[in-house]
Amino acid sequence: MPVLNRIADFHDDLVDWRHDIHRHPELAFEEHRTAALVAEKLRGFGFDEVVEDIGGTGVVGVLRQGDGPAIGLRADMDALPIMEAVEDRPHRSVHQGIMHACGHDGHTTMLLGAARYLAETRRFSGTLVFIFQPAEEGRAGARAMIEDGLFDRFPVSAVWGVHNMPGLPAGSVAVSPGPVMAAADRFTITVQGKGAHAAAPHLGRDPVVAGAALVQALQTLVSRQCPPHETLVVSVTEFHAGDTFNVLPDAARLGGTVRYFDKQIGEQAIASMKRVAEGIGAAHGVEVSVDYQYGYPPTVNTAEETEAARAVVAETFGADRVLDQAPVMFAEDFSFFLQEKPGAYGFIGNGEGSADLGCVGLHNPRYDFNDEILTTGATFFARLAEAQCPQR
Ligand SMILES: [Zn+2]
Ligand SMILES: [Zn+2]
Repeated sequence: MPVLNRIADFHDDLVDWRHDIHRHPELAFEEHRTAALVAEKLRGFGFDEVVEDIGGTGVVGVLRQGDGPAIGLRADMDALPIMEAVEDRPHRSVHQGIMHACGHDGHTTMLLGAARYLAETRRFSGTLVFIFQPAEEGRAGARAMIEDGLFDRFPVSAVWGVHNMPGLPAGSVAVSPGPVMAAADRFTITVQGKGAHAAAPHLGRDPVVAGAALVQALQTLVSRQCPPHETLVVSVTEFHAGDTFNVLPDAARLGGTVRYFDKQIGEQAIASMKRVAEGIGAAHGVEVSVDYQYGYPPTVNTAEETEAARAVVAETFGADRVLDQAPVMFAEDFSFFLQEKPGAYGFIGNGEGSADLGCVGLHNPRYDFNDEILTTGATFFARLAEAQCPQR
């Protein structure tokens, strides 16, 4: 039976699993129920090996069949601290203020669907490593799994993952080689001046004026210091100072994010930021200190693995279902896997939404994963595994 038909046969089960996970969302590194559910299902499917608690709440399941390459397939399990806004949704979150608003419930279910099919049919030769990672949302669960020996314990030659994307047609997959998502660092800048009466600014050192000058000067990191053909974003998103109208405060605090695809561009931006901050500090006679924190690295797809994903989508769903993915400045911690292994990260269309809700974006309190694409995603992973580890 063709993969799509067999997986379509248990579509209702996939919907049940997805709704169950959606109803019980868990935050980063707290995915105990979800991880237990995943492990129990994998064991039930007859997996050869299931290991829990990798990198915290991560789960790995392994299918072995003859010899052939070993590959990794990945899904994320965590939810977000968001209050679900659709009151009458039957599978609404039962945990106040926690919600699967990024569709990781769907990602986990799609990979479980592929797992069930592959465990049952075993039409492959090689080793399939199913990676269910915790804490994708800002807490670097992928890195935690790698640091816990993921690839030493389960060596693979390449790894694939997908994220749903509202607005992309349901059933299509967008995946392109090269950088597809950015590095996302954050910074906090403290401007230490000297408070004074607002009527006597000459007796103090105004951190507000210095901070405002700094916000302006930081714009030149992109416009004047980054080569025009490279991509860099510097956004100041926080500016805190003062409490009332007639007092010049002692200090100001600025915060923001820096995004880039190329590590060297990022390093240059950091050096420039420190230099500009120091210069503004000297000009205004205030102390400026920069606290810079590296976040997720850029997500960079390798050519061969991208082509493999595109070929599977074209063969299974039709050439018109393969879309190109323009790089975006959001970040994704699948990037940590791609620092270790070749691989590709794609976007599976979540559809254009319903007439009444419209297209609801990720991290929106009204968002929901589209159940119609559960079989698409499961079939994508299953066919990819069969294509990468062909039966001998
Ligand atoms: Zn998210
Ligand atoms: Zn996500």
